[in-house]
Amino acid sequence: MVSIDKAKCIGCGACASACPKGFEMKGDKASVKDGKAGCVKEAIESCPVDAIKG
Ligand code: SF4
Repeated sequence: MVSIDKAKCIGCGACASACPKGFEMKGDKASVKDGKAGCVKEAIESCPVDAIKG
């Protein structure tokens, strides 16, 4: 299951940009929209602080 470590997330928005179907920003943290989206891997790779686990 895809999850975001909110303690690590710096709110850069890279995951939501790389994978808008899978992630969205809620305030200053990212949130999982669809952990089964095809672009989740790209989002994981785009995160500068490795906050996305999947
Ligand atoms: S790419 Fe990583 S640090 Fe940036 S908003 Fe997404 S989860 Fe947070």
